[in-house]
Amino acid sequence: MNWQTREIAPGLYLVATPLGNARDITLRVLDILASADVLAAEDTRSLRRLMEIHGVALGDRPVVAYHDHNGDKARPKLMAALDAGQSVVYASEAGTPLISDPGFDLMRAALEAGVPCTTAPGPTAAVAALTLSGLPSDRFLFAGFLSNSASKRKSALAELASVPATLILYESPKRLGALLRDAAEILGADRQAVVCRELTKKFEERCAGTLAELAETYDEPPKGEIVVVIDRGGAAMQADQATLDDALRDALGRLSVKDAASEVSKIYGIPRREAYQRAMALGKN
Ligand code: SAM
Repeated sequence: MNWQTREIAPGLYLVATPLGNARDITLRVLDILASADVLAAEDTRSLRRLMEIHGVALGDRPVVAYHDHNGDKARPKLMAALDAGQSVVYASEAGTPLISDPGFDLMRAALEAGVPCTTAPGPTAAVAALTLSGLPSDRFLFAGFLSNSASKRKSALAELASVPATLILYESPKRLGALLRDAAEILGADRQAVVCRELTKKFEERCAGTLAELAETYDEPPKGEIVVVIDRGGAAMQADQATLDDALRDALGRLSVKDAASEVSKIYGIPRREAYQRAMALGKN
């Protein structure tokens, strides 16, 4: 056992926990879990289990649940402990707190109250997937979960279409097929992407291909947890009139004429006025 129980300074400690493989915990996170006065967790059972695996005794220290549904109630309790000069450690269920996980409001409240805050970094699925993807890692954009609504998801993809960076998205297995189909349509069927599934777990899988190929591969929902990494867009997609018209019709089904024209002009690099005039003409027909 290389970790130690020791005196730690008062303040808020945000700690990262493993994505699947319990041995991905850091020694510093174990030190903090062993030493903090108050433990707070998105899922208290997962935290207790992790501590058990690593032989970290809880003793009579409180474990407070802090998640999306009780933040407003639980935050004042944690802030009171921090105000009283105690050390509070916060862990989300897996990976890094605040990354598509709770913790943001707690962190803001602590900063605003002048409480010392620190982080014990570690696993996060976004970075694990990026490093495994084999796609350019020098510049990337993490967009988390896109909306469940098809029309909002398509609009978000349109915004991302011309971002000159590798894109990282989280998605549930149930909606993976829909995301890949929409991404193929909006970002381009030939754009390279990688689906990373069950990272650090027994059935870890990395599946690379074009967006169109991946949409076909994952037509049936797979099992487990998923990150989608998408290669950066090159120049705007080239398109003939029929493709532009299809894109405009699709966008007009979701958006106002102005917004549809703006979306399609961004994706295909055509002047907004041209897209607007064509959208008006299609709208009339
Ligand atoms: N805070 C976490 C982090 O730092 O990555 C993310 C929490 S978010 C609620 C859960 C999502 O993260 C999953 O739906 C999936 O997209 C991704 N994820 C978490 N663990 C994963 C794993 N082992 N393999 C692939 N994706 C994972």
